[in-house]
Amino acid sequence: MRILTACIGHETNTFAATPTTLEDFRRGSPAPDFGGGTPVLDHFRDTRTIHGGYIAGAVQHGLALAPLLWTFATPGGTVDQDAYDFLKGLLLDRLRAAGRCDGILLDLHGAMVTEAVEDAEGDLIAAVREVVGEAMPIVVTLDLHANITAQMAEGADVIVGFDEYPHIDMYERGVEATEVMVAILRGDLRPEMAYHPLPLLTMPPRQCTLIDPMRSLLAQARAMEQEVVNVTLAMGFPFADIHDAGASVLVTTNGDAGLARRRAEEMARAIWERRGDFTPVLTPVSEAIAYARTQAKGLVVLADGSDNPGGGGPCDGTVILRQFIEADAQGAVVAVIADPQAVAQAVAAGVGDTVTLDLGGKTDDRHGAPVRLTAQVRLLSDGAFTLRGPMGGGARARMGRTAVLVAGGVEVVVTERRIQPYDAALLRSVGIEPTERRLIALKSAVHFRSTYQDLAERIFDADTPGVHRPDFNAYTYRRVRRPIYPLEDLCATS
Ligand SMILES: [Zn+2]
Repeated sequence: MRILTACIGHETNTFAATPTTLEDFRRGSPAPDFGGGTPVLDHFRDTRTIHGGYIAGAVQHGLALAPLLWTFATPGGTVDQDAYDFLKGLLLDRLRAAGRCDGILLDLHGAMVTEAVEDAEGDLIAAVREVVGEAMPIVVTLDLHANITAQMAEGADVIVGFDEYPHIDMYERGVEATEVMVAILRGDLRPEMAYHPLPLLTMPPRQCTLIDPMRSLLAQARAMEQEVVNVTLAMGFPFADIHDAGASVLVTTNGDAGLARRRAEEMARAIWERRGDFTPVLTPVSEAIAYARTQAKGLVVLADGSDNPGGGGPCDGTVILRQFIEADAQGAVVAVIADPQAVAQAVAAGVGDTVTLDLGGKTDDRHGAPVRLTAQVRLLSDGAFTLRGPMGGGARARMGRTAVLVAGGVEVVVTERRIQPYDAALLRSVGIEPTERRLIALKSAVHFRSTYQDLAERIFDADTPGVHRPDFNAYTYRRVRRPIYPLEDLCATS
C-alpha cells in the first residue's frame, strides 16, 4: 500500500510583530525545494518526531511512504499570504502528479493563520480532500496546541492529536496515525469522530501534562481509550486570535457515532469543571535570583515563556539578562538570545577577545531594550547539534552561527536563529553543563521540562513581558468568539 505524506507546519502568534515568510519555511525544510521523497525519509528516520513515527509505522505494516513536501517554519507572526498560497499550490501540484495512492497522512500543527485564512489547516485539508475525493482516507496528526475547527474535523477521516505537553509523544502519535490508516485500509476500522469545542482559553504553563489539571485529565482520556479508538485533548493556542481559538475534544470510535459524541461530551465536561485551575503563577526575576542565592547547591531554572520562540516570541528579549547582570548573578546562564548582528561582532572579535555590543531587544519594544555589554567571547560554533531528549531526539537542530559571551558571572548564548532551548543538548553543544550552573534562564514555556525537569532543583515561571506572556490581561482579543472563559467568567456548563 502506498501512502502519501506532507507537512506544512506553523504555529502562528497573531500578536507577534514579525510576519512569517516563505524564507522562514525554506529554512524549516530539510531541502531547498521544501522536501519530498528520500531527503525527508533520510532526515526523519530514527528520530522522535511525527514523521519518524510515520516511517517506523510504515516499516512495521509494510506501507510504502511517499513524502510530497515537508516544511515547518519556526513559530512567529501571521503567515504571509503569498507564502501560504505558494506552499499550498506546490502541495496540490505534487499530489496531482503523485500517481496511485491508498491514503494520505498529513503532519500539521493546527494553529496556522495567514493574512487571509484564519483556519489554514482546515483550508489545506479541504483542498487535499477536493483533489483526492471522499473515498480516500486522510489521517491527520495535530499538535496539542491546535485550535481545532469544524472544517478540520469534517475534512479528515481521523485526527490524532499529541497527548503530551512537553510534546514527548510525537513519535508515538506518528506510529498511531499509521496504525489507524492501516486499520481503515484493511476494513477493520470505520471511523466515527466527534468534535466538541469548549468556550475556554488556557495558557501554556498550565497546559503542561506533567502537572494538574492536565495530568488527571490526560489519565481520564487514556482510560477512555480502552473503549474508543482515540481521545484527543487539544488545549489550543491562545496567542492566535482567531474565531475558533481554544480548547476542544475529539473522540474517534469504530463505527459508533453516538458513543463518540457521548465520550467527547464527557471529556469536555471534565475539562470545563477544572477551568479555574488553569491560571499560571508567575515569579518576579528578582525573587528567583534571591532564591538561587539562598540555596547551597542545585540548579534553578527560570522559564522565560513570554519570549518563547516556540510560540512566536522574538527570542531576543533582554529583561532577564539585564537583571542577571545588574544582580551580578554568579553561575547564571541566559539561553538563548537570537541576535545575528551581535554574533557577527563576536565572530569579528574572535575567541578570547573582549567585545562591546548592544545585545538583543531589537525586534520590537515589548521584550526589553538592547543591553550594552562588554563581554569576553568564550566560544564560537556553527550552532549545529543533535537533539538528545524525548522531544525530537535524534533530529539535527540548527542555531546558525553561535557565540557564548561572558560578562561578570553571567554567560549568554547568542545565536543567529531563533530557537527554543528545550533540550539540554543545546547548552552542552556549546560547552555548558547545566548541572554545573546555578541559575539558567530558558526561552521556553514548558518544553524545557522534557529534559530539565530532572536536572533542576527548582523551576520558576518568570514574570516577564512579551508576546507569549501567559497572562490574558496582556492582550486585546478582537476575533475570538465571545463569550469565552476566562475573558468572560462563564458560569454555565458547556
Ligand atoms: Zn505545541
